[in-house]
Amino acid sequence: MLTYEKALKKLLCRVPATRTASLSLQESLGRVLACSIVADIALPPFTKSFVDGYAVHNKDLGRAPTELAIIGEVAAGSRPQLQLSAGQTVKIMTGAVLPPGAVAVQMVEKTRQVSSSTVEVLEPVRKGENMALPGSEVEIGSTVLRPGTLIGPAEVGVLASFGYEKVEVCVAPTSAVISTGDELIELDQDPQFGQIRNSNAHMLSAQCRDLGLQVTTFPIVPDDPKSTEKVFSEALSYDLLIFSGGVSVGEHDYVHRILHEQQVDIFFHKVSIKPGKPILVGRKDQHLIFGLPGNPVSALVTFELFVRPAVRRWMGIEDGQLQQITGKLLAPVGHRPGRVLFKPAHTFWDGSGFQIRPIETKGSADITRFATANSLLIVEQDATCLQAGESARAMLLSAYYERGDRREVQSH
Ligand code: AMP
Ligand code: MG
Repeated sequence: MLTYEKALKKLLCRVPATRTASLSLQESLGRVLACSIVADIALPPFTKSFVDGYAVHNKDLGRAPTELAIIGEVAAGSRPQLQLSAGQTVKIMTGAVLPPGAVAVQMVEKTRQVSSSTVEVLEPVRKGENMALPGSEVEIGSTVLRPGTLIGPAEVGVLASFGYEKVEVCVAPTSAVISTGDELIELDQDPQFGQIRNSNAHMLSAQCRDLGLQVTTFPIVPDDPKSTEKVFSEALSYDLLIFSGGVSVGEHDYVHRILHEQQVDIFFHKVSIKPGKPILVGRKDQHLIFGLPGNPVSALVTFELFVRPAVRRWMGIEDGQLQQITGKLLAPVGHRPGRVLFKPAHTFWDGSGFQIRPIETKGSADITRFATANSLLIVEQDATCLQAGESARAMLLSAYYERGDRREVQSH
């Protein structure tokens, strides 16, 4: 059976091409930049004072205390008309253009005004102190942001500094979540004997939205080939199709059969992971199609392991996998070699390192206990069991890493 690494690699190299669109600067927040951003001006664009103070001539550097003659004032936004000579100064404001002849600025707090025309510099300044030369932050023509950069508030600031009112960004795929299962009921129905609330539709849709996707949640699809085929063709109006349930080899599992009949190029069906072994992934034209196992924990974990990095790649982000950390395991973990185990855990930083506390659940359906986790402990395929105190790896469930330790769901 395919390993997780091999399966993910297979998937990532076949993610459909990213589409781009031009958005207003404010709308670009949270999107991925699709082009290089080149500085159209130098920053700062002129010799600039960092402080409110007094401009200092080269010959007056290092002298203190010393009295200088005030020959004028420069405010931010105005053009200095003066030329500074030795023994002279101008009063200068933060962000103002330094007059020719000035090579440093002494901040007002380190001066004493003697009269309206004289100031005493109390401490010496070095050449270039409290000022910036043109282009010292960014040279004109240099690349300041690269394609693939996630646009946060700081990037919006950069884009605004270089005059971008509109930005070319990667477009997120449209997505459809489709739950299959004869036993499923919607939330407004009372479960009868043998029935299960369709929690995956809501959970997977929330995971999509958490990734910044717009999502359409389809009504429950019964376990029959005709309904599965019909929903498949309807869902082809979306870029990303996420099926839940019906991907195993049971008598009533039709998703694989229908995808096969519909000429979906199936990348893989079954991966050597626990939970989530039956996962199915394929592509038809520009549509990416996932069949996730129906057990809620399996559905959630396989979404994080496969859907998240693929969608992030599709959105233009190269490295879209969950962040991995190494930490100290706080309790032993049993494991039968065979498949790599992704076990729910609570990971936290204790001031000097990460600590990983494995969480015991009642299996792949136990989303209630899983919901107390903020990470997945990784137990390698061939490992037997891990001891408390051992070094171990965990993946941080990004949106929930900051979740505090919660143990109110008690085991019986
Ligand atoms: P399946 O992958 O269809 O074989 O389903 C595996 C298990 O997950 C079964 O116990 C199903 O009842 C349960 N299950 C399937 N789909 C859902 C769903 N949408 N919400 C909650 N549980 C589900
Ligand atoms: Mg089923």
